[in-house]
Amino acid sequence: MLAEHPSLEEIQQALKNTDLTCETLVKTYLQKIEEHRSLNAYVEVFAEESLIRAKTLDQDHQARGRKMGKLWGAVFSIKDVISYEGHLLSAGSKMLQGYLALYSATAVERLLAEDAIIIGRVNCDEFAMGSDNETSYYGPVKNAIDSNRIPGGSSGGSAVSVQANTCLMSLGSDTGGSVRQPASFCNLIGFKPSYGRISRHGLIAYASSFDQIGIIGRHLDDIKLAYSIMQGPDEYDGTLLQKASSNRSLDLPEKPIKLAYFGEALSHEGLQPEIKASFEKQVAALKSNGYQIDELSFNLLEYMIPCYYVLTSAEASSNLSRYDGIRYGYRAKDAKGLDDMYTRSRTEGFGAEVKRRILLGTFVLSVGYYDAYFAKAQKIRRLIKHQFDTWVSKYDGIILPMTPTTAWPLGSGKSPVEIYLADIYSVLANLVGAPAMSIPLGRDDHGLPFGLQILTANYSEDALFFLTENMLNREPGR
Ligand code: GLN
Repeated sequence: MLAEHPSLEEIQQALKNTDLTCETLVKTYLQKIEEHRSLNAYVEVFAEESLIRAKTLDQDHQARGRKMGKLWGAVFSIKDVISYEGHLLSAGSKMLQGYLALYSATAVERLLAEDAIIIGRVNCDEFAMGSDNETSYYGPVKNAIDSNRIPGGSSGGSAVSVQANTCLMSLGSDTGGSVRQPASFCNLIGFKPSYGRISRHGLIAYASSFDQIGIIGRHLDDIKLAYSIMQGPDEYDGTLLQKASSNRSLDLPEKPIKLAYFGEALSHEGLQPEIKASFEKQVAALKSNGYQIDELSFNLLEYMIPCYYVLTSAEASSNLSRYDGIRYGYRAKDAKGLDDMYTRSRTEGFGAEVKRRILLGTFVLSVGYYDAYFAKAQKIRRLIKHQFDTWVSKYDGIILPMTPTTAWPLGSGKSPVEIYLADIYSVLANLVGAPAMSIPLGRDDHGLPFGLQILTANYSEDALFFLTENMLNREPGR
């Protein structure tokens, strides 16, 4: 009998003992998907083909005795922004309805090469723009803990697919928190690697200098394994770090572990009292376990949201210009001439949030405003990066609340600016390109979960895993 939330190791043990087959495993997940249809996590379920793949894997194991891949028995869902050859891909948008991916993302190819199974394509905010999964063309995703609440976004479908036990792990994308924030709202672990670790080939671009594929799961070891398989150089992505992995012995923290947090983050007026109290309790507990934890001052904290939204909207407006109804995307019918066709295709194909970002992006890039907004935001990004590098040269890691609040009600009517401000703690990792993890920290008075965020220096994933293991109160696996 498998545990309620088995880890991959447990699944593989059961497969080896022939207590379980991949086919039964996939059938169980498919049944869960049906049970949880109303959460709207899946845009498309690859039921038949995942069963066929499962059966083939079972045969390979039983009859042919093949040495199975490292992800044998690992069933994934993938966010609707990640290409899977021969499958539809729409970025949660009307703009890309009917588009079939011509090739698989490098990340997907690497998972499949290790015998992973992909069970379906999951819902997300349109073009990954959002924090609540309410901007999707397919309608909102619901949080399985309370179906009147948002699951977080933009990878809300990814989080809920794991939360509702319909798969082991999910691939999401994280431009400003979209993997970590929904993980924290759904009581899961969310991991964003350093910029330049996992190939973006086959990932639909939102803001190219921020985007990274990330993983949502329940077990840190599963996430580490999936990451180790997906990361590393790829000829299709020139922004990747050109060495496979860092040298473990170089970047693991020495004892005592030194961490820092920002005073301004804790005194932020929007921070929910339960989150603040839990965070402080955690700091005290870590200190009594021998950690050195210092409070630092981060005087650029209030610039992070404007800086992030100016830069990502600018990059998005450029990335999305290809969807004009001719080169790519939805084409409006009965247009009167070329200009009318462009206008109507984009007007009808994109949703409100995406249009808002395109307008903001083209505005900050336009002559006359470029220096005042775009160039200034670039400079602030540089200052933040400099500041961050100084801290991580002195500390093993930085801890922050993941979000200022827990999941808000669906259809809350929050203004775009209110929603943007809720990203205050998540965008730092993307602005500086650092790896970051969100782990469950506690629950508020309504029983809604929230997370603790850990960041380490760029490319120090091993240190991040080490710290995370320690904070999850497990035997540190040095
Ligand atoms: N909420 C942020 C935004 O809307 C983050 C999105 C993401 O990480 N893809 O831009």
